[in-house]
Amino acid sequence: MSDRIPVVAANWKMHKTLAEATDFCDRFLPQVEDAAAEIVICPSYLSLPLVAEATKVGAVEVAAQNMHYEDSGAFTGEVSAAMLLDAGAKAVVLGHSERRQLFCETDEALARKVPVALESGLMPILCVGETAEERERDETDRILRRQIDAGISRVPAERLAEVVVAYEPIWAIGTGKTATPEQAEDACGFVRSLVAARDTTAAERIRILYGGSVKPANAADLLGREEIDGALVGGASLDPDDFAAIVTAAG
Ligand code: PEP
Repeated sequence: MSDRIPVVAANWKMHKTLAEATDFCDRFLPQVEDAAAEIVICPSYLSLPLVAEATKVGAVEVAAQNMHYEDSGAFTGEVSAAMLLDAGAKAVVLGHSERRQLFCETDEALARKVPVALESGLMPILCVGETAEERERDETDRILRRQIDAGISRVPAERLAEVVVAYEPIWAIGTGKTATPEQAEDACGFVRSLVAARDTTAAERIRILYGGSVKPANAADLLGREEIDGALVGGASLDPDDFAAIVTAAG
């Protein structure tokens, strides 16, 4: 058993109004008072202050779903690290496959965002993962290597362990098709070996999560694996009871 503290993160994507976010917190928080895992909720930007306020006495942290790498400037529609910190965020999801696929997020942008998040005091949750076609062509390792090498390229070795990586095969996101625990563990282990190529101590400490149709029914199997240090959860995190069950499965 590793001594890495598991992270279980709720990615709400573009879901939940302020009233719905409040209702979620009211129903979810009492269920996780004794949780062993680090819990992160990633609401919309607009709900960040509300969820940060609702969770401030517990062990739950709040994260944004994206961030710009510049401090300020003429970047309409974008949000900086300082603004996220102001709103109560402690972490930020970077490079989610929906940002990469639908909003043209590039490896170069992520190479800039990850160190900026760290320097600003936000825990970066860097998402990586292959498409179904890439897996069929046996290119999973090549894709993960490219995404990880870029994402951590400008992070100094002594801060590498503070990055959280989420391995999220795109074919498993929102599809109900979960990677088998073996597939997930293989990929997370490969990501750890890529980090080890930069720094072996950081590779032992860095948390590597699995994401892709995690539900209460499959959480224990996935999260019980040595190489898997938690989960990034989309659909099932919208329901407070389901998300609480996944948090509990993380130990
Ligand atoms: C995600 O959006 O990061 C995700 C893993 O979604 P889902 O759990 O719905 O597959």
